[in-house]
Amino acid sequence: MRLFGCVCGQFHSSAAGMGMAGGEQRVAVPVPFYVIEHPDGVTLFDCGLPTSLAEPEDRLLSALRSQGLDVTFAPDETVASHLERLDIDPARVRQVVVSHLHFDHVGGLHQVPNATVVVQRAEWEAGFDEDLAARYFLRKRLFDLGHEVQLIDGEHDLFGDGRVVCIPTPGHTPGHQSVRIRSASGDHILVGDACYNGEAAETRQFPEFSDHAAMNRSLDALLALRAPDTVMVFGHDADQWGAAPVLPNARA
Ligand SMILES: [Zn+2]
Repeated sequence: MRLFGCVCGQFHSSAAGMGMAGGEQRVAVPVPFYVIEHPDGVTLFDCGLPTSLAEPEDRLLSALRSQGLDVTFAPDETVASHLERLDIDPARVRQVVVSHLHFDHVGGLHQVPNATVVVQRAEWEAGFDEDLAARYFLRKRLFDLGHEVQLIDGEHDLFGDGRVVCIPTPGHTPGHQSVRIRSASGDHILVGDACYNGEAAETRQFPEFSDHAAMNRSLDALLALRAPDTVMVFGHDADQWGAAPVLPNARA
């Protein structure tokens, strides 16, 4: 089983907005997603940004910019482009495990029409609850696209072989989840936005809208799962995707 990490665009924001020291200083952070080539089928963990964000007139892009968050997104960074480089037909993607329903984690769903979306029940239900969806910025038009949906409750062994295990890590959003993957390249915990970066794992600086008590509990639980050789792959950590990316992709 192989695991790849792909970067689907960059955010440009204040350091504070990304849970980093540096206040209003601008930083660029990656938007990763992951490809798991399991013998029982190709699975993604998250699926990047919606391709519409590459268009200058996009209404989501305008809304983000008005909140101080800019996006750069090259045509060869889409989910479909990454999959093609890995020689995977997007129509063949069997499942997308989504950490949560934010636009930068479900944006590419429209490019994998035959996939089943695997999501925590609490997250999916929040997406259809008017108050929670507004509080947590869950945009139905980006995730409610008619895919098959598999709702899970708590820890879930995706293939029944212990290689891909979903771990509930609520707090960033009501039903956020992370994934632990044991592959040929080692033991990885794909943290998702349970923690944006290595620095925030220390400082515990979390986004304003999130439930900080729950985030602390979830992060403590994730960190406690680490074995000596476990690599934590954070949600938006520029240090993990530079010249020496934390996971291979078709380019490296
Ligand atoms: Zn995110």
